[in-house]
Amino acid sequence: MRHRDIRRVSTEASRDKFKTFLAAKGLRVTNQRLAIFDAALAQTEHFTAEELLVHARALDESVSRATVYRTLPIMTESALLREIDVGRNIKFYAPNRDDRAQQAQIICLDCDKIFEINAPFMEWYGTTVSSKLGLTPVSQRLQVSAHCNAFRTTGQCPHRNN
Ligand SMILES: [Zn+2]
Repeated sequence: MRHRDIRRVSTEASRDKFKTFLAAKGLRVTNQRLAIFDAALAQTEHFTAEELLVHARALDESVSRATVYRTLPIMTESALLREIDVGRNIKFYAPNRDDRAQQAQIICLDCDKIFEINAPFMEWYGTTVSSKLGLTPVSQRLQVSAHCNAFRTTGQCPHRNN
């Protein structure tokens, strides 16, 4: 039942895209790879490869760690997922939603939580400053590292444990 709920989240279109990419890489469409795909696209929070392994195994317990690590780059290459580099050894991933709004990332240094907020002004700002220099922007990002005010006063981060 849970599996069916999750399947509904990942649209047929993105599933087809994933299958096409697998084929292009000479990889078979297996239940394990589809479980990884479904689990990844169902996530609303950023996740690590290890977290994805847990979610994928909830759908198909035969999913191996190796398959998760081999499938993740295929999903980022096909733009189904994006990789979020927060300047640490660990990589975070998030599903690429359809809305193309610019997002700013705010990272809590106390709990490692990554918040994303829509930041439409970023696009405007990037375009404005670039055009003054006769340039066309290709990409830009805003990433803010922050401490919790609550952590500083109470010693407890309200974002920790999720
Ligand atoms: Zn925090």
